[in-house]
Amino acid sequence: MRALVVEKPGRFSVETVPDPTPSAGEAVVRVDAVGICGTDIHIVEGEFPPTPYPIIPGHEFAGEIVALGAGSSGVRIGDRVAVDPSLFCGRCHYCAIGRGNLCENWGAIGDTVDGAMAEYVKVPTANCYRLPGHLSAAHGALVEPLSCAVHGFDVLPRQLGSHYLIYGAGTMGLLMLQLAIAAGAASVSVVDTNADRLAVARTLGADAATVAADAMDRPEGWEIVIDCSGTIAAIEDGLSRVRRGGTYQQFGVAAADARAVISPFRIYNDEITIVGSMAVLHSFGRAVDLLGEGVIDADTMITHDFALDEFGDALRTFRAGTGRKIQLHPGRAAR
Ligand SMILES: [Zn+2]
Ligand SMILES: [Zn+2]
Repeated sequence: MRALVVEKPGRFSVETVPDPTPSAGEAVVRVDAVGICGTDIHIVEGEFPPTPYPIIPGHEFAGEIVALGAGSSGVRIGDRVAVDPSLFCGRCHYCAIGRGNLCENWGAIGDTVDGAMAEYVKVPTANCYRLPGHLSAAHGALVEPLSCAVHGFDVLPRQLGSHYLIYGAGTMGLLMLQLAIAAGAASVSVVDTNADRLAVARTLGADAATVAADAMDRPEGWEIVIDCSGTIAAIEDGLSRVRRGGTYQQFGVAAADARAVISPFRIYNDEITIVGSMAVLHSFGRAVDLLGEGVIDADTMITHDFALDEFGDALRTFRAGTGRKIQLHPGRAAR
């Protein structure tokens, strides 16, 4: 099969490699669509420490089951599925308390074992989620990022009529925006430095979308502030705008050594809660349901698709910061 192989940090090429063969409890999925995520770029650049090289990246994907290992149950050949990339060990302290996303032996398809930027990918059948018939593979490849956003909401307090402030109107910020509306927000405001992204946030229902929260005239602050940018200026600004008794969520990925200034007095005196949210936890099936029921405007979320051989173009488009979700269609010939 053809696959994007990252040989070592900074060196990648599309090559012919052996087709995967499924062991017991595994399926082989023909990849029809796979999204590109910031983590994939970190893997290409050697900035995602758990990565073993060489590796085929790709963890946001959907396709059709074309082969099954011995004794596989629950799925059949021909099923169209999205695949939870999480590989939790099931034995450590965190797995035992139901928090597998913090697993001591954490792994994921496309991060620590070969992933979906290939014609075929081998996956545990237990990680496969059947897609509703009307959902395209491209939309199915949005399940993984959406399931991260759903987990983000799982660790937020929810109360009808809350005011939300979201930093970052990229793919994740726009998914959070749509979930906040679905969760009964009184208002959702979005901050981003990019005018095009702000325009999309407005189309998707943001009540306000500006380059700075100052312009929104809400001196009492917001009950829920979510950072989807990972940038320190946004994080510090966001922390200062949490309403008394409110919650700040760190959803965006900052550099591991980055530091932000907080006011311990405010956190004490205003009873501010700070929560983190990392990847997927028990949220994959609900993300399938949300997409299947049309709660998310999936078409607006996907702006580019490329063939596997056009990965270089896809990478340039990603780095230019234009558009939203960029996908590869490994079965398609290059233009
Ligand atoms: Zn991702
Ligand atoms: Zn574990």
